[in-house]
Amino acid sequence: MILIDGKAIAEQIKQEIAEEVRQIKLKGYKIPHLAAILVGNDGGSLSYVTHKVKDCEEIGFKSTLLHFEDNISQNFLLNEIDKLNNNPDVDGFIVQLPLPKHIDEQTIINAIQPSKDVDGFHPVNVGKMVLGLPAFISATPLGIVELLKRYRIPTQGKHIVILGRSNIVGRPLSILLSQKGIDGTVTVAHSKTTNLKELCLQADILVAAMGQPGFVTADMVKHGSVVIDVGTTRVPSTETKSGWKLVGDVQFDEVAPKCSYITPVPGGVGPMTRIGLLKNTLQAAKSRS
Ligand code: NAP
Repeated sequence: MILIDGKAIAEQIKQEIAEEVRQIKLKGYKIPHLAAILVGNDGGSLSYVTHKVKDCEEIGFKSTLLHFEDNISQNFLLNEIDKLNNNPDVDGFIVQLPLPKHIDEQTIINAIQPSKDVDGFHPVNVGKMVLGLPAFISATPLGIVELLKRYRIPTQGKHIVILGRSNIVGRPLSILLSQKGIDGTVTVAHSKTTNLKELCLQADILVAAMGQPGFVTADMVKHGSVVIDVGTTRVPSTETKSGWKLVGDVQFDEVAPKCSYITPVPGGVGPMTRIGLLKNTLQAAKSRS
């Protein structure tokens, strides 16, 4: 069994992007600039955004964090998005989700100029991705595809079963993995799927993206298969200073011995998700210069 080290691969890609930024600076071009909007004080969101800004600093990007109270109106937020859309110094920006209940997330996503939508959530980018055209692809599916490529895990003709059909993970991943060049045969399962265990047992590559801690057990996994665990659920823990730890959708200890490759949680898909945003921002900056 080979443990897929997402942390190490992410670090390697970060160095590659940092080198590109050094070259951009040497040539006297404008350095890539990522802006992030955070609404409210949710601990998880604050920590995600802080990490994203820190990543930017580490690789030499410029970054701007706009942090607003959770009682701002939808119109106020739309106005801030408009300013970023029209700010020539900003190459790409994200609005950290989830947003407070009184703000409609799809309206906000629709307002982001597609050429600056480095999260890849805008319908134009999703549509382009479906058609196989150049687009910003959302970070988690992009990171998973990159992990498979870097570990040279064969996908052509393989049966890939994805548990979960969300717009940010399962659905876009299913499209990417069935595209020409990757050539997987993809099955997408969800909460209404009836024969889940039988499906999982057919998988050459099994991706769990449900947010159901420990759902995938050893009896659901074929010998020699590849298991990608996207799930990250915070559960209380006495082992950590923070009082919580992240748990995946896979029962790692019992599943790992049956696999050819498996991602751990944490340290698997998570670090790659942070890289996807940086790659998209670099791409946005390059297409502008
Ligand atoms: P989501 O929007 O809640 O979607 C979950 C999907 O799983 C839905 O399609 C749901 O089916 C399906 N599902 C839930 N319970 C199921 C069950 N018992 N059997 C079969 N299918 C079931 O979640 P998400 O945003 O895709 O995230 C999924 C997990 O990945 C979460 O733990 C999240 O924290 C994690 N995540 C991690 C990263 C990372 O960087 N590592 C990035 C993004 C997300 P229905 O559609 O029928 O409801």
